[in-house]
Amino acid sequence: MSLIIALDFDDTYTADPDLWSAFVKKAQGNGHYVMVVTYRMASYGVSDIEAALPGIEIVTTEGAQKRQYLRENGFPEPSIWIDDMPELIV
Ligand SMILES: [Mg+2]
Repeated sequence: MSLIIALDFDDTYTADPDLWSAFVKKAQGNGHYVMVVTYRMASYGVSDIEAALPGIEIVTTEGAQKRQYLRENGFPEPSIWIDDMPELIV
């Protein structure tokens, strides 16, 4: 089964970039889809995310709860969330 994995960036990816970069590569190699879903405002910028994980899909939820934001904006429902602040997913 192929998974859709939503990975948080600030204080999740950045807590151990080496770990999560290896995780993303391995997940993609296993046929899973990984996207970064961040609570950030788009105006804050995402160049650091693009540099860390080239080519990955990045969703900025503009300070909105993540699951609801994805649903309302036509994104697929993640199978798995990886996040240091699960209260922002809900
Ligand atoms: Mg975070």
